[in-house]
Amino acid sequence: MNRGRRMVSVLGSTGSIGVSTLDVIARHPDRLGAYALAAHSSVDTLLAQCIAHQPRFAVLVDEAAAESLRARLPDECPTQVLQGEEGLSQVATAPEAGVVMAAIVGAAGLPSTLAAARAGKTVLLANKESLVMGGHLLMAAVRESGARLLPIDSEHNAIFQCMPVDAGATPSLKGVSKVLLTASGGPFRTWTWEQMAAATPDQACAHPNWSMGRKISVDSASLMNKGLEFIEACWIFDLTPAHIEVVVHPQSIIHSMVQYLDGSVLAQMGNPDMRTPIAYGLGWPDRLTAGVAPLDLVATARLDFEAPDEARFPCLRLAREAATRGGTAMAVCNAANEVAVAAFLAGQLTFTGIPAVIEGTLERADIVEPTSISVVESADAGARELAAELVAEIDARKNTVNLA
Ligand code: NAD
Ligand code: MG
Repeated sequence: MNRGRRMVSVLGSTGSIGVSTLDVIARHPDRLGAYALAAHSSVDTLLAQCIAHQPRFAVLVDEAAAESLRARLPDECPTQVLQGEEGLSQVATAPEAGVVMAAIVGAAGLPSTLAAARAGKTVLLANKESLVMGGHLLMAAVRESGARLLPIDSEHNAIFQCMPVDAGATPSLKGVSKVLLTASGGPFRTWTWEQMAAATPDQACAHPNWSMGRKISVDSASLMNKGLEFIEACWIFDLTPAHIEVVVHPQSIIHSMVQYLDGSVLAQMGNPDMRTPIAYGLGWPDRLTAGVAPLDLVATARLDFEAPDEARFPCLRLAREAATRGGTAMAVCNAANEVAVAAFLAGQLTFTGIPAVIEGTLERADIVEPTSISVVESADAGARELAAELVAEIDARKNTVNLA
């Protein structure tokens, strides 16, 4: 192994962020290498990635899928196949991997992200749900182990780039007055509530600017993605909800902004391509080529801004209220959303049923202090049960719940 190379464990390598991460790594064979690739059960994609990137380890959480990958790997491939949560944790903490890309989708990413943070890794954080759910634990682990957390979510990466270099956990002391979190508005930005009530999963996943996995695509359509990002920004930059303003910017050219006390507003811009924040994280503090086309401002021509409409998009309000309430409210909000989105994608819930399930779950759940991972996990599990009951109730009422 070349000593100067940064070796990366890519958790969620077969997903949208994982594939973009491997694309950037492959552009810099002298500086970067894939140490381990991990996914849930996609054998075909992981097999092709192992042949192309020759990692030391490949992990499939699903044991039957891991067995099948093991049988199909060609003899000349140096990759050892691991399985289960133990395999994930092994590659998230291995001494040979200095960098961990946390790109598993949903609450399932929390244990491995936390393990990487506790092991003092440079954690490239795409998995926003782990921070929403266990922000308190994850940020404490980063502080205690000396891990470095670099945000990959495009908005948080933009904010990170626009913050004063030495802001640390106290941006307000460095003259920051506000963070302006931009949102594209998603595919339903101009739709009425009635139109959204009849929306199909494919319509919700047809994002105007970004190509992403289906869960985050639905979150973008409901604005829950912005709600989760609101909470994510509070944790990463140690901000209170009052410090963050959401601005709808349909072109997704400005990825977010930081406003200073003197009236200056710094924005980070670029074409909407996740390889930009991924390359920023992989190369930090250096800049690397990412295969992203340069921004053509003349062709872009205009940048528009509008206020978010929380009457049509209640998910944004629900997430903000969960952030203000604190404790396990954020984990409950996240878990209810995961259940509601899965039900919507499976055709069991209307699109407008998603906020109804989240609001009902937040009303019924007990909110406690998130003192340990087991407290957070039991809040998550309890919220999933409540949310599943609400999905069934709403389904039984033929989806007539209307929050507007
Ligand atoms: P995706 O659905 O395309 O990929 C998810 C990956 O996670 C796959 O590799 C899958 O095998 C793996 N996975 C799923 N469940 C797992 C489990 N239980 N155990 C282990 N692995 C599991 O998702 P994505 O769009 O790449 O998003 C990944 C994360 O990054 C999400 O948290 C999302 O919010 C965040 N994110 C994505 C984008 C984007 O442009 N796609 C942008 C910002 C943030
Ligand atoms: Mg984002």
